[in-house]
Amino acid sequence: MPLEYARTQLVPKPWGRVDLRPWRESGVGGESVGEIWFERAGVDLARPALLLKILFTSEPLSIQVHPDNAFAQSKGEANGKTEAWYVLATEPGAMVALGLKASVSDLQLRAAIEDGSIADLVHWQPAVAGDVILVPAGTIHALGAGLVVAEIQQQSDTTYRLFDFGRGRTLHVEEALAVARPGPAAAALAPSPLTKGRTLLVASPYFVLERIDLPAGTHWALNAAQETWLLVIQGQVEVGSATVPVGEAVFLDSATAGLAAGPDGMRGLLAYAAAAPVAGLLDAMDTPATGLAPSPFTPPPHPAPPASAAGNPELCP
Ligand SMILES: [Zn+2]
Repeated sequence: MPLEYARTQLVPKPWGRVDLRPWRESGVGGESVGEIWFERAGVDLARPALLLKILFTSEPLSIQVHPDNAFAQSKGEANGKTEAWYVLATEPGAMVALGLKASVSDLQLRAAIEDGSIADLVHWQPAVAGDVILVPAGTIHALGAGLVVAEIQQQSDTTYRLFDFGRGRTLHVEEALAVARPGPAAAALAPSPLTKGRTLLVASPYFVLERIDLPAGTHWALNAAQETWLLVIQGQVEVGSATVPVGEAVFLDSATAGLAAGPDGMRGLLAYAAAAPVAGLLDAMDTPATGLAPSPFTPPPHPAPPASAAGNPELCP
C-alpha cells in the first residue's frame, strides 16, 4: 500500500529556464532546467505505468510524434506514449502545436519533414493557463516557448523527431512516417464536473487526468485503488503528517490518504492509471480523516541532485 512523497529530479535542458519559481525555489546552480520529474521515493520499486513531469520552455521543443502501444511493442518496447498537458503558466504569445492544419499524404508529410515546412504545416494554437491538451500517440505535436506545463504520460522514452528548429539533432523520418496520423487532431473535450471537488480533464485509454479543488479547511479521503499521482498546483494540502506545497507530488497505489486542505485551499492535478473516471476516488469527510494514512512520510531534502544531462538524451526533447 504505497503512499509516498514523490522524489524529484531536475533535468537540465538547453530549452529550459533558470528561474523555476513558484514551482521550485531553487534550481541547479544557475543551470537551465527543462523538466522536473516526479518519481517514487525509493530505489528498486516497481516502475510506475505513468510518468508525471513539469516542463519549463524558453524555446520551442522539437516537432515530434510518439508511437502507440502496437508499434512500440513491435520494436520490443513495453508500451507507446500517449501524453496530456495541463498548462500551468504562459508568457504572452505562448503557443502549442497539435496535429496538422489539414490532412496530407505520407508523401507530402515526408517532403514537409525533409524541407522543414512541417513547422508551418502543424496547427499552432495559443496557450493560456488552465488549458488541457490530450496528445494521443500518433499525433504530431510541439510545445512552444514561454510555457510551464504539467505533463502526464505513459512511461516511455520513445520520441520521433520531425523538426528541430535548426538545432541539428537527429530526425527520425521513417519512424515518424510509420506512426504519425498526418491530419488534424481530434477536437478537445471541455472539462466536466464529476463529483464535489472533482473535474474531469482527460480520459484516455491509459490514464485519467482530473483537477481537484478543495476549499480551505476541508477534509477528504483519497481512495486510490490504482496507481495515482497528486500534484499540488495552488495552495497546499496535508497528506497524512506531511505538508505538500505547490510543485510537489504524492504517489499512491492501493492506498487511502487523508487530505486536509491548507488555509488557502488546494488545487491539484490527479492522474491515475484507469481508462475512465473512478467513482469514490475522493470522499468529503465531516471530520478530519485521521488515521487513514498508513504511515507518516517526510519530504526529501530539496533541491534533488540534478539528473545527468547525458543520461536522458532522448527524453521527449
Ligand atoms: Zn511529446
